[in-house]
Amino acid sequence: MLNTESAEKIAPIMSAYGRFPVTIVKGKGCYVWDDTGKKYLDFTSGIAVCALGHVPDAVEEVLKKQLDTLWHCSNLFHIASQEKLAGMLTELTCCDQVFFCNSGAEANEGAIKLARRYAHLIKGKENGHIVTFNHSFHGRTMATLTATAQEKLQDGFGPLMPGFRYLPYNSDEAIQALQEDDDCIAVMLEMVQGEGGVIPADQNWVTALAEVCHEKGMLLMVDEVQTGIGRTGTLFAYQQYGIEPDVVTAAKALGSGIPIGAFMAKKQVSQVLTPGTHGSTFGGNPFATTAGVATLEAFKKQHVLDQCVKNAEYLNSKLIELKAKYPDLIKDVRGKGLLIGVETAFPAIEVVNQLREQYSVLILTAGKNVLRILPPLIVNESEIDQFIKAMNGVLNQH
Ligand SMILES: *Cc1c(COP(=O)(O)O)cnc(C)c1O
Repeated sequence: MLNTESAEKIAPIMSAYGRFPVTIVKGKGCYVWDDTGKKYLDFTSGIAVCALGHVPDAVEEVLKKQLDTLWHCSNLFHIASQEKLAGMLTELTCCDQVFFCNSGAEANEGAIKLARRYAHLIKGKENGHIVTFNHSFHGRTMATLTATAQEKLQDGFGPLMPGFRYLPYNSDEAIQALQEDDDCIAVMLEMVQGEGGVIPADQNWVTALAEVCHEKGMLLMVDEVQTGIGRTGTLFAYQQYGIEPDVVTAAKALGSGIPIGAFMAKKQVSQVLTPGTHGSTFGGNPFATTAGVATLEAFKKQHVLDQCVKNAEYLNSKLIELKAKYPDLIKDVRGKGLLIGVETAFPAIEVVNQLREQYSVLILTAGKNVLRILPPLIVNESEIDQFIKAMNGVLNQH
């Protein structure tokens, strides 16, 4: 039981997060500074948000202008930057239309609503379910938490939402089950499970999954909240798998740190959202969508995808060297692009804490035994070398 009777004064922020004992006050490029002036190499990118690094010049300049022009305007009016960003995203993906919201959970929530409405209106199915996969992560709202097949995150929040079924990721069993499932309206998956331990989807499995979705008229929905906007070396990770999803969601890196989310779909699907069926006060507002446009323009101008591929190759080769040097400590190096997981033979949080305390380097975990390494995509070789040197130092102590 939690002690709810303590007379002690408590912090005014709810304790929903376990936090590192550091207060970050400034960021630029691949570095952040704390309130004592200490400088850190940031290989978390604010959980895969700051793809262009912190406060990237190209976005900063445009946002400063936007600050003097217009901050907010409702979706009852046209918003030029929103239309521009939607045009860019549809140009760069297999989708035809976009809806903007404010976060990853909200984007997936929207995708779930879209799938249900499509099933109701087009398929005449009112009680279908959506399939998601074990160890997935889709967000913290009630529907996306239900979609998230991890008991430890759902614990204590029941009753969960009806209309979801879980199957094992990367497994033939899932394909078989879907072939026999006549009530499934959509399948939602991450192309690399991020929070669930950095597990990339197998090519053959994804091909089979897309086939069964197509055959059975189930929507294929990819949650690219973490993998999207260049993290894996292509703008979206699905683009490396030779598939065309019906629905794609994005958020984290889309606004370079300004909150924004989006779900997009092929027109046969997106058209079921007629006026009045979905909405968001802040979604697609001028400030956030201006950040999105500037982010995608910077991607093109600075060849950020090429940088990501090159950096990923270099960082991976260095990590594989480390694995060879410390075979008892490092069990696996995996991932896609600059979404990298390193499986450790001991609690990963020890590495995270030692890197931060002794080497001023920030990384994350994904579960108990996986280090999650998410540098800005524009990182350079000397910054990668600095990180590897720190890793060497930490592993040497174990
Ligand atoms: C982070 C994340 C979400 C949730 O995004 P929020 O902006 O925190 O709501 C959903 N799906 C995936 C794959 C994520 O990595």
